[in-house]
This record gives sequence, C-alpha cells and structure tokens, in this order.
Amino acid sequence: MTDCIFCRIINGEIPSKNIYEDPEILVFHDIRPLAPTHFLILPKKHIESLATCEESSESLLGRMLLLAPKLAFEQGLKGFRTMINTGSEGGQEVFHLHIHVFGGAKTLPKT
Ligand code: AMP
Ligand code: ZN
Repeated sequence: MTDCIFCRIINGEIPSKNIYEDPEILVFHDIRPLAPTHFLILPKKHIESLATCEESSESLLGRMLLLAPKLAFEQGLKGFRTMINTGSEGGQEVFHLHIHVFGGAKTLPKT
C-alpha cells in the first residue's frame, strides 16, 4: 500500500486510460484535462520530482521526453506543449515525477 496516487495507478489499484506502457514508463490521459488532448508521461519507479532525479535516471528521462512527440503525433496532434511542475512552488500537486503533454487547442494552458 502506498499513498502515492500514481504508484497506485501503476500497481493497478486505481484505473487509468493508458496510451502507452513499457517496463519503465506508463502514459495515461489526465483525469482533469486542461486541453482537448492532455496526457501524462511518468516513470514506473517512484521518483518524487525532477528535483530529486539522480544522474542514474538520465536515460529514463531522455526516453520519457522522446515519447512526448511520438505519442502526441500518434494522438493526432501537430504540435504540443510540455510541462513539468517541480515542487509545490512550481505547481506540483502529485509528487511522482510526470511530464504533462497538452495539445489540440489554439490556447494551451501555461500553468
Ligand atoms: P501536477 O500539478 O503537475 O502535479 O499535476 C498532477 C496532475 O495529475 C493533474 O493534472 C491531475 O489532473 C492529474 N491527476 C490526478 N489524479 C489523477 C488520476 N487518478 N488519473 C489521471 N490523472 C490524475
Ligand atoms: Zn509514486
């Protein structure tokens, strides 16, 4: 049992609308989308935030970032915005590292 909502999704305790999964990474649609397309890319390993990433996560971070355009284009987007909120002062609400990907609207959220 964990308090981390994203770990609970990864463990299958809470349902999610997944669009991609591999041994290290899970991608699912945000439950409260801020754009017509809004999905989250996260590591299956619990990493609190970008600020607590270690150098050993360098290739994992690279793989997560490279998935953004691949999945965005698969979802039919022609362009997109990425966002990583870090720490409560950075607007982070779920303390399990994730990359937001937004698209499908002329006006995209900046926060
Ligand atoms: P952040 O403010 O960067 O920590 O973003 C957390 C995001 O997680 C928000 O956009 C939430 O809508 C999203 N979220 C929270 N709970 C869930 C859930 N159960 N399934 C999908 N997305 C979620
Ligand atoms: Zn977690």
